Amino acid sequence: MQPRRLTPTRVYRFYRGGMLIDRMRGETGADTDFPEDWVGSVTQASNPGRDEPLAGLSQLDDGSLLRAAIAADPRGWLGPDAGRGSTGVLVKLLDAAERLPVHFHPDRAFAREHFGSEFGKTEAWIVLATREEESEVWIGMRERVDRETYRGWIDRQERERLLGSLHRVPVRAGDVIFVPAGTPHAIGAGALIAELQEPTDFSIVCEWDGYPIAAEDSHLGLGWDVAIDALELEPQEPVLGLPDAARAFFWADERPEPAGRFAVWIVLEGSGRISGGPARSGDCFAVPAAADRIEVDGDLRVLRCLGPE
Ligand SMILES: [Zn+2]
Repeated sequence: MQPRRLTPTRVYRFYRGGMLIDRMRGETGADTDFPEDWVGSVTQASNPGRDEPLAGLSQLDDGSLLRAAIAADPRGWLGPDAGRGSTGVLVKLLDAAERLPVHFHPDRAFAREHFGSEFGKTEAWIVLATREEESEVWIGMRERVDRETYRGWIDRQERERLLGSLHRVPVRAGDVIFVPAGTPHAIGAGALIAELQEPTDFSIVCEWDGYPIAAEDSHLGLGWDVAIDALELEPQEPVLGLPDAARAFFWADERPEPAGRFAVWIVLEGSGRISGGPARSGDCFAVPAAADRIEVDGDLRVLRCLGPE
């Protein structure tokens, strides 16, 4: 088997952006309501009020769904992980033209209990480019805040406190930040990010005032009394780079070579050929576990994204 070229899978979100995704592909680009591209995705996107059964699901170059290709040949695509029946990872390119709201994601134990899902949503951000010299993200509580106090900030939508309680981290191309499930966070405007995460779309949104988000859509239908249990309110220093603990969720490196398991490749720079087909900045490939020899020519810089070990 050989790598298969992926068609872009742009996904509707409540925020605008995406210009840097277009630019990465050599286009002029524009900000739209489709600021994310889900790469090698077998995960359905969920947007309240939108009935889009195929949203977020990646297609191969022949128009078929990657999900269907994997279901037809789990051994070839997933190799040792065939029993899991899923790639175990979701990779997105995202470029927000505005700051995103403070939010957090459930861990596996919480997701199992409340959604019957084996995956939560630990994530990591790999900054590929910024619109200005640098951008910024906010992550993890600077100081301990008790649950009642934080709940009050949410109920009263005290946005300055929600954001101000987090570490602000300036970011530039090349920076990597690990975001454990439960950690409150927000992404600033103007950063093109390759986001690796567990393959779910579970987000609990603390800050909706000023965003086109209804209060009742903020807590995944659990109510805040329950949803706040998934939040880490102990102080946490930002984790820069991918720690070894990330391997339980995903991994990323710049080695354009077979991994012996499913991988997503994103060409970051350059032009050349992959398995005889043209490849240039912004091209994306789904790489089956059974691709044991892959020819790569040219000056390509490739981000290789892997699922959990
Ligand atoms: Zn997030």
